[in-house]
Amino acid sequence: MTSKPAGKRPRYLIVGGGIAGCSLAYVLGQAGLEVRLIEAGEIGKTGASSVPMALMNPHRGRMARASELDLAGLHAMQELDQDLRAQGLDAGIHWTGVLRIASNEKQRKKWAKLTVQQLEPSEISSAYHAPFGGIFSAEAGWLEPDKLLRALKQAAEAKGVQFFENVRVQTLETGFKLETTAGIEEADKVIFCTGASENRGFDLPEFEPMAGDVIALEANITMPYPIAGAIYGMQNKGLIYMGGNHRERLEPEAEDIERLKESSSWFLKDLKDSAITQVWSGIRAKSADNKPLLTELHPNLWFFGALGGRGFLCSYHLANVLAKKLVTGELITESEDLV
Ligand SMILES: Cc1cc2nc3c(=O)[nH]c(=O)nc-3n(C[C@H](O)[C@H](O)[C@H](O)COP(=O)(O)OP(=O)(O)OC[C@H]3O[C@@H](n4cnc5c(N)ncnc54)[C@H](O)[C@@H]3O)c2cc1C
Repeated sequence: MTSKPAGKRPRYLIVGGGIAGCSLAYVLGQAGLEVRLIEAGEIGKTGASSVPMALMNPHRGRMARASELDLAGLHAMQELDQDLRAQGLDAGIHWTGVLRIASNEKQRKKWAKLTVQQLEPSEISSAYHAPFGGIFSAEAGWLEPDKLLRALKQAAEAKGVQFFENVRVQTLETGFKLETTAGIEEADKVIFCTGASENRGFDLPEFEPMAGDVIALEANITMPYPIAGAIYGMQNKGLIYMGGNHRERLEPEAEDIERLKESSSWFLKDLKDSAITQVWSGIRAKSADNKPLLTELHPNLWFFGALGGRGFLCSYHLANVLAKKLVTGELITESEDLV
């Protein structure tokens, strides 16, 4: 692992190597551009993108109506998976379909208007508790973030992108002189993909931090497909991963983890007596209106983030949108520009 940026100044410098930064590095690298990425920690091990498992489910929110952005994100992920496979890389992406279980009759009735497969309670595997039925999004799936980030890094490196891990950008001066923990860096265009990290000293857009947890449980259950919703979950290598919680308090307390397990047990009854083997806690950054931010802060200085709970679903699509704008110099002014 290289730890000291050096050599010719790159045209594009990405700060932050979560899913946003790695997706952008991959897209710019594929376009043959000179790119350098600086990450304060290790790729796949830091920030919200180190979440153990992630869903790609476009039927989000209470109404479960898939937005244009979420569908564009899902389709872009399907393409990315194919591209990475063609390069011989395993991105840990699983196209299993995703089940959303209705919490009550009212919700089920609302979902009946959606153009997605409707399931009666009797059509849902008995592994799940689904007395009101649900919906099944056959084209959705889940992924292993660590594998995806490593695949993106490997593919980008093959195109000449340079990654520097364990290097933190500390200050930024006009003319794009960045002071890092490993020396001074310069670039023509700088893109901050720093997630919810506290970066005092940089004038980055406002976002709201929203914490959440994922627990891994040892349970003798087979989950035929993952579940989505306020609580989401999937199975990988014998462990059941359940995620959720939206809390403003950033540090979890024992009661938060207990509550997550309790809520999870409503959907999968057999989880009740199973042991929690891992707890992961992280912070998503979200904007006030829940829309991702692809913002030009100053000429040639960009911010890409505030991805909320859909960073893995949408980053690759958004990285393509941003890459186009970076190359053509156009501004993104309307949220429709994101699709
Ligand atoms: C509990 C939970 C469950 C989630 N589940 C899902 C899901 O199922 N599906 C989904 O699509 N999304 C999910 N998300 C959301 C997803 O994890 C985030 O949207 C996404 O990871 C954000 O990526 P990012 O690259 O913007 O930020 P991050 O992953 O936080 O990356 C930012 C990176 O920037 C680096 N950095 C910061 N400052 C500096 C600096 N000064 N110098 C150098 N590097 C710096 C950090 O070290 C970090 O690695 C979930 C999030 C949480 C918390």
